[in-house]
Amino acid sequence: MKIAVCAKQIPDPATPYSLDPETHFVVRPNDQVLDDTDRYGVEMALQLAEANDAEVVLVSMGPAGNLQGVRQALAMGADKAIVVDDEGLRGSGALVTAKVLAAAIQQEGGVDLVITGTESTDGYTGVVPQQIAALLGLPALSFARKVELDGTTLKVERISATGYDDVECPLPAVVAVTSGAVEPRYPTFKGIMAAKSKPVEQPTAADLGIAADAIGEAGSGQEITSVEDAPSRTAGTKIVDEGEAFQAIVELLEKAKVI
Ligand SMILES: Cc1cc2nc3c(=O)[nH]c(=O)nc-3n(C[C@H](O)[C@H](O)[C@H](O)COP(=O)(O)OP(=O)(O)OC[C@H]3O[C@@H](n4cnc5c(N)ncnc54)[C@H](O)[C@@H]3O)c2cc1C
Repeated sequence: MKIAVCAKQIPDPATPYSLDPETHFVVRPNDQVLDDTDRYGVEMALQLAEANDAEVVLVSMGPAGNLQGVRQALAMGADKAIVVDDEGLRGSGALVTAKVLAAAIQQEGGVDLVITGTESTDGYTGVVPQQIAALLGLPALSFARKVELDGTTLKVERISATGYDDVECPLPAVVAVTSGAVEPRYPTFKGIMAAKSKPVEQPTAADLGIAADAIGEAGSGQEITSVEDAPSRTAGTKIVDEGEAFQAIVELLEKAKVI
């Protein structure tokens, strides 16, 4: 059995992000960390792999840098990694990202289960897992807080507005796990040493059969024309209640088209 886990390297959230003034893209330093959200997906994959004698393959798209974030996942226990790093991918949106990840999973072959986070920390569109599932023609189980494998049936507790739904589907499938679903392990010293020699494949988009004009800003059909600072907060309006404050509040809400 083979489990692919999609995980992203991101600039360390503890360090302020900087933007390239010309392209407006986030400057991605050489040192990037494993997205904290994806530590849950990696842990879930490892737990399922341990119980089902499976191989765990990490799949990532983005500037590889010194692979620090990828090595974090390998140190946790993933067996190998595929990192699609290609200058042409700069400016790719969520759908292009999903196409690249789906192509890498397809090329790897024999994947029974794809695990992702629910929403990344830096992009947070929350659509990549469902897009990967659609592209691979697989069922997508989202917002999973508990995941079990019963033979070739995937059973999930899916968080809903009022509690959770029990959802199941046959493998192969894509499941997006929520943060907190499991307790991510800390890499051991042995794991950190072993990660240094685990295989990391670095295909380009062309190696995955994706044309140069289908990736990047052009392939995504988007262009960042400008980036503005968020306006600083204003002092707001203070209403002193002398018995008629409700009227002033209603007027304000009407003006803001809230009511
Ligand atoms: C304007 C813009 C510019 C961009 N520029 C670049 C760029 O220069 N270079 C580049 O490589 N990408 C670039 N991207 C892609 C971007 O970094 C995201 O990976 C992509 O848009 C996915 O969106 P998200 O992070 O909101 O995914 P979400 O849907 O919020 O992520 C959910 C889950 O999907 C999986 N996932 C998402 N993205 C990846 C990934 N990249 N690798 C592995 N797993 C993933 C993870 O499991 C994650 O937890 C750009 C995107 C935009 C919108």
